[in-house]
Amino acid sequence: MDFQFSPEDETFRKEVRDFVRAEWDPKGYDTIGATIASYDLHTEEAIELVKEWQQKLAAKGWWTFHWPTEFGGTGAAISRQLVYREEMSYWGAPSTGASDLVSPVLMFHGNEWHKQELLPHYATAEIEFCRLLSEPGSGSDLASVTTKAIRDGDDFVVSGQKIWTSMAEMADYGQAIVRTDPDAVKHRGLTYLIIDMKSPGIVLRPINDMLGQRRWSEVFFDEVRVPARNMVGELNRGWYATMTHLSFERSNIGGPARMLRFLEEFTDWARTEKVNGTPLLDDIRLRHKLADYRLQVEVARMISYRVAWMQTRGEIPVKESSMTKNWGDVLHQGIYRGLASLLTDSGLLRPEDPKAPANRFLGVNAFLSTGLSIGGGTREIQKNIIAQRALGLPR
Ligand SMILES: Cc1cc2nc3c(=O)[nH]c(=O)nc-3n(C[C@H](O)[C@H](O)[C@H](O)COP(=O)(O)OP(=O)(O)OC[C@H]3O[C@@H](n4cnc5c(N)ncnc54)[C@H](O)[C@@H]3O)c2cc1C
Repeated sequence: MDFQFSPEDETFRKEVRDFVRAEWDPKGYDTIGATIASYDLHTEEAIELVKEWQQKLAAKGWWTFHWPTEFGGTGAAISRQLVYREEMSYWGAPSTGASDLVSPVLMFHGNEWHKQELLPHYATAEIEFCRLLSEPGSGSDLASVTTKAIRDGDDFVVSGQKIWTSMAEMADYGQAIVRTDPDAVKHRGLTYLIIDMKSPGIVLRPINDMLGQRRWSEVFFDEVRVPARNMVGELNRGWYATMTHLSFERSNIGGPARMLRFLEEFTDWARTEKVNGTPLLDDIRLRHKLADYRLQVEVARMISYRVAWMQTRGEIPVKESSMTKNWGDVLHQGIYRGLASLLTDSGLLRPEDPKAPANRFLGVNAFLSTGLSIGGGTREIQKNIIAQRALGLPR
């Protein structure tokens, strides 16, 4: 098996690397940490930093690098997309929007308004979306959501509650799944709506993470009017629009690339950090752990390449995507927690503490990476998918 990229792809890799190294400065923020749960990326300065970077990428046409040309993307081949994302992630540079899963849904199921108004503004990084999916009683069993939408003239009227909404306070629009037919079997009574987050009747209540920082919101809808043109796809067929996400699952190559960078930085730090006059890296337990982690990162990278390879063959990598997610979560948590527990007196310190080790974010990531195996589908749900679809085990 040949794991090499073509010379053209490698030339492109260098182009991305040169651009990132010249233009991207994370200014001390943790951009290679737990990402969706990064410690300090919710501050106003960090958001501004990321916005400036997005504008640079949008100007180059890279913010929507993987989009088809008809929608303003580069139409790049899968291998080129993989190289782009791997390189950007290694340097800790955001490469596409957190809300990027909405774009294929709009391309496939959207109407003219979605395609002419929303997609172009997303492509120029002017608007962001949040995901209004989970509810207090519906997470893994998403099809059981009860937030209702009733048709009234040219509008839907939405009432109910969502929870665990990341970045709700910064989003312009929410991608919501709502119940429009309470009498139908649960998957068949759902509709997919794009909701303007500034609409009257929406109230946000912050939810803090285990380190006390705002990370999510509860989102309450009190008879919020949503124009009917905001519906994506057909009435009561929202589940199918939601499932479009599946066929656009990415290879998750960003995770292994970021962990590789983290391990390299950690190793450099351990080489110079001394304990009783001896470099920390001379500690045999640490050496074994670092070697083991490096192998695990390589395994994750190979599974991601497999997903990309399947995509080039037009196959839909459903169980393989669950494998990359599951293994990636285990990897992040295992590395951060394993190294933090080895450094008994400093491993869990906050970045503000001058004694915080390595890139300063090890301790907070040992905590915050917990969220990785819950957000976007829990580890147990991913394992169910692997068991049923890969191993053919009974439900
Ligand atoms: C960092 C983070 C970001 C998030 N961002 C968003 C967001 O932006 N928008 C959004 O809508 N939601 C978001 N969520 C919510 C997330 O999608 C849900 O928490 C997740 O789907 C699990 O749902 P739940 O919390 O209701 O737990 P439940 O579904 O109630 O699960 C509870 C436990 O039971 C297990 N379980 C449930 N069903 C099964 C089963 N069939 N077989 C075996 N075990 C099972 C689960 O694995 C879990 O351990 C986020 C969560 C996190 C942690």
